Amino acid sequence: MRTSNSICLLCQENPADKENSHIVPKFMTKSILGKSSDKRGYRVLSDRLHERPEFTQDSDKESHILCISCELYFSVIETYISTRLHNRIWDIRHQENFISNQSLEGTVYKVCAEIDPLVFNLFLFSIVWRCSITSSFTFSDFKIGERESELIRVALHSVKRTKQNELIERLAYPINPMPKFHFILATAEYFPDSSMNLVCWDEADNDWSFVLYLNEYILWVSFDNHPRLNVFEYLNTNHQSNVKLVFLSVGRWNEVREALLHTIFKKHPIQ
Ligand SMILES: [Zn+2]
Repeated sequence: MRTSNSICLLCQENPADKENSHIVPKFMTKSILGKSSDKRGYRVLSDRLHERPEFTQDSDKESHILCISCELYFSVIETYISTRLHNRIWDIRHQENFISNQSLEGTVYKVCAEIDPLVFNLFLFSIVWRCSITSSFTFSDFKIGERESELIRVALHSVKRTKQNELIERLAYPINPMPKFHFILATAEYFPDSSMNLVCWDEADNDWSFVLYLNEYILWVSFDNHPRLNVFEYLNTNHQSNVKLVFLSVGRWNEVREALLHTIFKKHPIQ
C-alpha cells in the first residue's frame, strides 16, 4: 500500500505526495462517461472478461504514485497534446494544421505537422508507464517489462520541466538514451456514441506487444523491432518524424469495439 511517505515512482527522489493521479489523462477519458448528468461507465478487468462489469463514474486514479512536481510535469505534456491535437483534430476550423493522407492499402491518416514529435513521444511514454506502474483497477494486471519501464522512466525524468516553454527549450537537445519503440495511435472519423467506448488493455495480435483502448483512441505498442512491423513504419511516430494519427472509418471503429465488447459481455449481457 502506497502512502504519502512512499517515494515518487518517476523521480525516485521526492515523497509521493500527489493524491488522485489519473492513470490515463483525464481529457482522453472525459467523453466515455456520457453527459455529466448521466455519468456511467463500466469497469472491466482484462483477465476477468467473463465477470460482470462494475459501474463507475470516473476513470482510474491512484494516490501516492507521484510527487506534486512530477504530476505537474505530466500535466504540462498533456496540456500541450490536448490543446494542439485532441481539441483540434476533429475541428473543421483547425484542419490546416493537419495533412490528410491515404496509404495504398487505404489506411487514412493525418500528419500533425504542428506537434513536436518529442512531446508526443513523451506523452505516449507517460501513458504506457503509468498504466504499467499503477495498481488501480483497470490496469492492475498490465505490466510492461522492467527494462522497458526503466528506459521510459529515465527518458521521461531526464527532461522533466514544469513549464511548457522550458520543456520545449530542453527538447532542442537530445534525450539520451531515447527509447525507440513502435507506436501507432488511431482514432475514428467520429463517434456515434462515445459512452460505448472502453478504457482497457489487451494482448495484441501479430507482432505488437499490446494494445491500449483509451476511449476515443487505440494505441498499438511494440517494444520489439520485428521486421514485419516495417510495413507500418510510415505510421510510426518516432522522435524524428512527424506525428501521425490513423483515422478509422466509423464502420471499422465499430467492428473493433464490438469485437472487444463481445469478448467482455458475451457471458454477462447488460440488461
Ligand atoms: Zn517525482
